[in-house]
Amino acid sequence: MSLYLGIDFGTSGARAAVIDQDMQLCVQVSRRFASVEPRQQAPHWQDVMFRLIQQIPEDIRAKIQAIAIDGTSSTVLLCDGAGVPLDAPLLYNDARAGAALTDLQAFFTQANVQDTPEQDVVLSATSSLVKLLWWKQQSVYAQARYLLHQADWLGFLLHGQLGISDYHNCLKLGYDVAQLEYPSWMAELEVMPLLPQVRSPGTVVGKIVSAIANQLGLPTDCQICTGTTDSIAAFLASGVTAIGEAVTSLGSTLVLKLLSATPITNRTYGIYSHRLGDLWLVGGASNTGGAVLQQFFTPQELLELSPQIAVQQESPLQYYPLTQPGDRFPVNDASLLPCVEPRPKNPVDFLHGLLESMARIEARGYQLLQKLGAAPLVRVYTAGGGAANPAWTAIRNRQLQVPVLVSRHTEAAYGTARLAKSSTE
Ligand code: ADP
Repeated sequence: MSLYLGIDFGTSGARAAVIDQDMQLCVQVSRRFASVEPRQQAPHWQDVMFRLIQQIPEDIRAKIQAIAIDGTSSTVLLCDGAGVPLDAPLLYNDARAGAALTDLQAFFTQANVQDTPEQDVVLSATSSLVKLLWWKQQSVYAQARYLLHQADWLGFLLHGQLGISDYHNCLKLGYDVAQLEYPSWMAELEVMPLLPQVRSPGTVVGKIVSAIANQLGLPTDCQICTGTTDSIAAFLASGVTAIGEAVTSLGSTLVLKLLSATPITNRTYGIYSHRLGDLWLVGGASNTGGAVLQQFFTPQELLELSPQIAVQQESPLQYYPLTQPGDRFPVNDASLLPCVEPRPKNPVDFLHGLLESMARIEARGYQLLQKLGAAPLVRVYTAGGGAANPAWTAIRNRQLQVPVLVSRHTEAAYGTARLAKSSTE
C-alpha cells in the first residue's frame, strides 16, 4: 500500500496528514510553534518538521511514497550557497519592507512598465518581491545566493536541491503564472540570480536525501514534491475540481475562491487568481466574518441561539459587520464604518441579522467575481469555524441560490497530501 504525506506550515503551528490511494485520511498529527527569537525561527521550523514526521506511527511512515509541503504565502528566507538562512525569515505579515514598496512603485513609473496582473500582487509591503528588494538594501545581501519561500526551504531540507519553487508560492514574487516565466521587467531589478526555478505545484523534485530518510524512518525512495501555499492547500482539501465550484472560508474573515476557466485580477477590489493546472482560482477576501460574531456572542451562545433562527425568512436588518472601519471586497471603501445597528432586543434576531448580512456580502462577492469574468457559480463548499453552523448554511443557501455544502476535508495538510498523491498520477 502506498501512502502520501502532506505537511502544512500555518500561522500558529504545523500539521501533517497521511492519506492512502483512495484519499482516506490515515493519520493526522500537529505541533504548535514555540515562541523563539527571530534568528531561531528557521531552525525551529526544521525541528518541528522532523518531530512532526516522527510523530507519525512507524508502520505508516515506512509506506510514504511522496511528500509535499505548504507554507504561509510570502514567508521568505534569504540563504547562502549552502541553503543556510543568512537572516531571520520575513514572515507572511511582516511589513517592514514598506520603503522598498515605494521604490518599486517608482520603478514601475520611471521604467514605464506596462500595467500587468503581476504588478497588482507584488505591490504590497508584504509581497515576496518587496521583501527581497528590502533585503537587497541590507549588508547581508552580499552573501545571498537564494531567495526561498518557507515551503521551498523545508522541501530543500528533505530533497537537498536548492533554488526550486512552485508557481503558487511564486505568485507574489512577481512570476507570470499565465506565461510561466519571470516578466522581463524583473531583470532590471537585478535580483534574477537569486530567484528560484518555478515548477508546477505537486511535481517531483527528487528522492529524499538518504541520510534524512534513515533518520526519519521514511523509505529511501520516497519522492519529495514542489509545494503550495497554505490557503491553496485548504482549497485543495475540499476536492473541488469543476469550473463554477467555489469554496467559502468562514473563519475570522470571509474568503471566497471560485474555480474558473480564465484568470481575473482587479486592483480596486484586491482580486487575484492562482493557476490550478489549466484552470484558475479566482479569490477575494472581505474583512467581515466570524471575528465580528465573537465580539457579541460566546461560542456557547452561537450554538444555542443559531437553531432558534427562522432561517427561511429573510432578516430585514441590513448590516455591514466589521471589527474596524474599512473593507476592500466586495465594497472597496477604506473608511467604510462597521454597521450593526439597529440592534433588536432579542439576541436571536440580532444574530439572524448578522448572519443574513454576512450572507448578503458573500452573495455580493460572488456576483462581483462573476461580473468581472469568473465562471457562473454552480456550488459552494464551506470551510472554517462558521461551516459548523447549519442555520448559517441555510441562510447562505437562500442568499446564494446555489447548493451550499460543508467540505468533508478542510485541513491544509490534507490538501497538501492530495497534492503529493497527484505527483504520482
Ligand atoms: P481563523 O482560522 O480565520 O481564525 P476559524 O476557521 O478557526 O478562523 O474560525 C473561527 C471563527 O469561526 C470565529 O471567528 C468564530 O466566530 C466562528 N465560529 C465558531 N463557531 C461558530 C458557530 N457555531 N457559528 C458561527 N460562527 C462560528
